[in-house]
Amino acid sequence: MADLVRLERGIRVSLTEHESLVDALLQEREQIRGSLFSRFAVCGKANCACAQGEKHGPYYVLSNRSRGEGAFIYLKEEQVSRVRELVNRHRRFKKGLKRLKGLSSKLHALFEQYETSAALAGSREADL
Ligand SMILES: [Zn+2]
Repeated sequence: MADLVRLERGIRVSLTEHESLVDALLQEREQIRGSLFSRFAVCGKANCACAQGEKHGPYYVLSNRSRGEGAFIYLKEEQVSRVRELVNRHRRFKKGLKRLKGLSSKLHALFEQYETSAALAGSREADL
């Protein structure tokens, strides 16, 4: 019986954690899949400063494979901070999903233990 009480407590704690994680995930309505990076470029004109190593840029690029193999989007300066935020949000979301999976497995494992203990308790009670 002590076992069942302990397991129930564990299950309820996991459920609370599960619920707040789900709430947090459902708040993240806008996100961007991909990664953001900056690059510097050489224009190729022999008399340009970039030929001396002072490259042009930074240019900010969003790379997103799911939009097609090797898809790159060049960003305007004013888009960069928002896009960075949304890209980070997507990353956090994916981490959250991983945690959700872990929590669900934990919950399931606890219920399996609960079932074993409950079946034992039932057998004892029925004096089998
Ligand atoms: Zn140049």
